[in-house]
Amino acid sequence: MIKANNPELKSYLSVDKDSDFPIQNIPFGVFKTATQPARLCTRIGDHVIDLFSLNKLGFFIDLKIPASVFENDYINDFMALGKAQCRAVRDRISELLDNRKDKWNAHELTEHFIHNIKDVEILLPVKVTDYTDFYSSIEHATNVGTMFRGVENALKPNWRHLPVGYHGRASSIVVSGTPIKRPCGQQMPADATAPVYGPCRLLDFELEMAFIVGQATKQGEALSTKAAEDYIFGMVLFNDWSARDIQKWEYEPLGPFLGKSFASSISPWVVTLDALEHFRVPGPVQEPAVLPYLQYEGHRNLDIHLEVDIQTPEGVVQTVCRSNFKYMYWNMAQQLAHHTVNGCNLNVGDMCASGTISGKTPDSYGSMLEISWRGTKPVAMPDGTERKFIQDGDTVIMRGMSEKDGLRIGFGEVSGAIIPATPLVEV
Ligand code: CA
Repeated sequence: MIKANNPELKSYLSVDKDSDFPIQNIPFGVFKTATQPARLCTRIGDHVIDLFSLNKLGFFIDLKIPASVFENDYINDFMALGKAQCRAVRDRISELLDNRKDKWNAHELTEHFIHNIKDVEILLPVKVTDYTDFYSSIEHATNVGTMFRGVENALKPNWRHLPVGYHGRASSIVVSGTPIKRPCGQQMPADATAPVYGPCRLLDFELEMAFIVGQATKQGEALSTKAAEDYIFGMVLFNDWSARDIQKWEYEPLGPFLGKSFASSISPWVVTLDALEHFRVPGPVQEPAVLPYLQYEGHRNLDIHLEVDIQTPEGVVQTVCRSNFKYMYWNMAQQLAHHTVNGCNLNVGDMCASGTISGKTPDSYGSMLEISWRGTKPVAMPDGTERKFIQDGDTVIMRGMSEKDGLRIGFGEVSGAIIPATPLVEV
């Protein structure tokens, strides 16, 4: 077992029993204060732990990691140290903050490396080098396919044979809390004879999770499903904002473009694949059998409970979806094996999103497109209003956590509030 995952561990730092961040989590992120530049950190309860300071105090001295890795805008250089080093740092942090094994007496120095989360700014943790979006939930693909092509042709002939994906934009991935401006674009309204340009009217979220590549491959190398997880550093919650009207008009024949690229929001704490080890579950049976390079052994799905709230500007909240990452038809190892099977190389910082994570029942659908079934079944809000899609002023909040045998490991949340479209700056 990975040392830091030991469910018996208990920190001397206060942790709420409902916290997503017990000592067994130890995610990685980036923060800054009014007086300090960006530094890497972890989190226990609501305590933000400054890894640059821990390193400076000598707690990582035997690991021989340059200080610049920790005083850094992103965790990319840290991930690039490799899984063994990152695991050693996570284990060491765990020892330093455990109430029984703190042989370094770190608890006497906490004022030098601990901040209350309210006193710091949490930043985008990863310099995203490339972003790939998969389409790996069979329930989501079936729902969308049924809406647009009918139930007989819901899944395209390739769907059960390969994890369908497309290359998105890394430049517009933002951290939780960043306002999202309603995009403008070209649309073909149902009653129109020519396209129009204007603010998106069918703005949607997509409930997804994303994994982050922590190790590069060379061009010409293909990862096996067995090796693939060694290249995955960790995961975040991912809201892949979508402009359905722009998407519908533009997507044939080459797939999503401007209807997707204006923004995606991620949660700020990168939860390591190591920390999620305890929550592995079998995936769905894949029928027909997949090609040999996509076959895998062991449990590759993860039991992560997911939910989505819509909050109005007045603070009225409605939960619109409860789903689970374990529903994924294609797992992350298969996605990465497929991603590299043509020899395309991966970089540290590449982000791969799952695609919308829908379950079998309408209360588990991961987008408003499905929840409101193209706007035909509006969602009632507690204030008497209704939602078919997302309105200006609404905030969409996604949460995710795993729980088993009394141990809870979570991601916190990713939220984004919609601000009205404004004319773009022409330069
Ligand atoms: Ca997506």
